[in-house]
Amino acid sequence: MSLAADKPDCRPFDVVVAGAGLIGAASACLFAHQGLKVALVEAQPQSQPKPQPQAAQSSQPRGAFPPDATDARVSAINLAVGNLFTALGVWSRLNPKLLSRYHAMKVWDRNSAAKISFRADEVGVGEACLGYIIENRVMRAAMLAQLQQSAHATVLHNTAVTGIQQNGAATVTVTLSDQQIVTRLLVGADGCHSRVRELCGISTQFFDFAQDAIVATLSAARGHRATAWQCFLATGPVAMLPLADARCALVWSCDRERAGALMQLNETEFCARLQPLFLSELGALSDLQPRRRFPIVQHHASRYIADSVALVGDAAHSLHPLAGLGANLGFMDAAALAEVVGHAHRHGRHIGQYSVLRRYERWRQGNNALVLAMMRGFKEIFGSRRRAAQAIRSGGMNLVDASPALKTALAKFAGGGCGDIPLLCRRA
Ligand SMILES: Cc1cc2nc3c(=O)[nH]c(=O)nc-3n(C[C@H](O)[C@H](O)[C@H](O)COP(=O)(O)OP(=O)(O)OC[C@H]3O[C@@H](n4cnc5c(N)ncnc54)[C@H](O)[C@@H]3O)c2cc1C
Repeated sequence: MSLAADKPDCRPFDVVVAGAGLIGAASACLFAHQGLKVALVEAQPQSQPKPQPQAAQSSQPRGAFPPDATDARVSAINLAVGNLFTALGVWSRLNPKLLSRYHAMKVWDRNSAAKISFRADEVGVGEACLGYIIENRVMRAAMLAQLQQSAHATVLHNTAVTGIQQNGAATVTVTLSDQQIVTRLLVGADGCHSRVRELCGISTQFFDFAQDAIVATLSAARGHRATAWQCFLATGPVAMLPLADARCALVWSCDRERAGALMQLNETEFCARLQPLFLSELGALSDLQPRRRFPIVQHHASRYIADSVALVGDAAHSLHPLAGLGANLGFMDAAALAEVVGHAHRHGRHIGQYSVLRRYERWRQGNNALVLAMMRGFKEIFGSRRRAAQAIRSGGMNLVDASPALKTALAKFAGGGCGDIPLLCRRA
């Protein structure tokens, strides 16, 4: 797509966002919402290729998502992100038939009697639900539709960021596969293996859990009852999330060898392995849809910013999906960055200036580091067969389950309502 043909405005962009995943699309919506001229650049073509056969997916290189697979995921979205979608006008674009509100959550440890259950009405989060389960492709489509309507946004598909050149302090020239564009701020939202991060020479600390997550949807005879179910095994957590069409979305995390073996099973064999974990809650499982396999990798970038560049979402951090937090943290990054940039813009300051971007980095990096450390700790404790770890997890779960105050605090944390949250993520 040619920029000149698409938009006649020849001014440099205020912001170029690299990557139109969930977080890049949200970032572009946020900047357009502030009246900034933004280009969203996506390496993949606009229309998604047909799903690949399972055998091909399982041979993906470690840590890389299959090119057409990012949209196969379903996310648990917290209330704060729901507020953000409402503020941006994205919420009204989400098809209500594809939006699932969950009212309860049940988590248990398969190796002990430990459990925690939450109900929205008992933890008093002030909403009718604990959060939302939405397919990534549905959220992304709503945000892209929003950008389509914006006079401030240009979306470029099928072209990748390949180079960056600083032009003094004021602008950056971004080299794409097919052209160059000039911007005052480049936002790297290009995922876990971010090219923008690499081009800026920002190091990141990878931790490989040596696990994959298998995702699929299926039907449960007893229905999901608007509840998110999660069973912790020593081999990894298995979650069944309630979808709007009454089906469940499975996220089964386990070591790569086991994941490879599970991918090879036919539907009957696979359901027979899964069913005992959830039998008393969900009944018989059937109608398994194609499985996808995602590598689970944790990483955290040493810096979130460089000259006129900022990283958001998986480009800055990624974590184990056991608590469904990765995208939620990324949306918070995007909202925080847009808030500090918008403030600078309104006060006539250069939006790519170090002191502006440093405010964003200080706001988000420490918070995300804490969450990443917590998730890694949970993963270790729940994955350990050692007696001490078993005692900690069953004691901890039972303690939380018996304490309304602790449950409320945990529900508030999971709902995104803790700490210094960006203005647009707060309840209107
Ligand atoms: C199995 C699984 C389940 C999960 N469940 C949850 C959940 O319930 N809740 C939750 O909050 N999080 C969840 N997560 C995490 C969440 O999916 C991710 O954190 C989130 O999708 C990251 O979005 P992103 O936009 O930052 O990156 P990505 O989705 O990786 O998007 C990056 C985009 O950048 C594009 N790109 C790459 N390079 C370039 C380039 N050079 N130029 C231009 N474009 C480029 C890519 O094509 C892609 O579209 C889960 C993750 C997994 C693996």
